[in-house]
Amino acid sequence: MLACLSMSHENPPERAQIPEVGSCEEKNRLRDEFLKTIRELNALLSQQTRAVIEGDPDFSRFDVLLHVAHERKEMAKYAWITHVESHHCEEG
Ligand SMILES: [Zn+2]
Repeated sequence: MLACLSMSHENPPERAQIPEVGSCEEKNRLRDEFLKTIRELNALLSQQTRAVIEGDPDFSRFDVLLHVAHERKEMAKYAWITHVESHHCEEG
């Protein structure tokens, strides 16, 4: 029968409703992005710390990088919070 070819989608639609708690992929992605910016900031701080300890006279070159990394962290945090507040998926 031809019906076999066109009626094979028994799975429920994935985006028919707000995802259950803990299943929001976008929130998880935004959180990972936020964590990544934190790690980048930490890496820069470690590098600057080492530069100071080692007497590198050019340690202040990290300040610009730290500023940029901090801005990126704030933006990532804001994107995450904004999504959670508008999507109500903060749990999980
Ligand atoms: Zn969400």
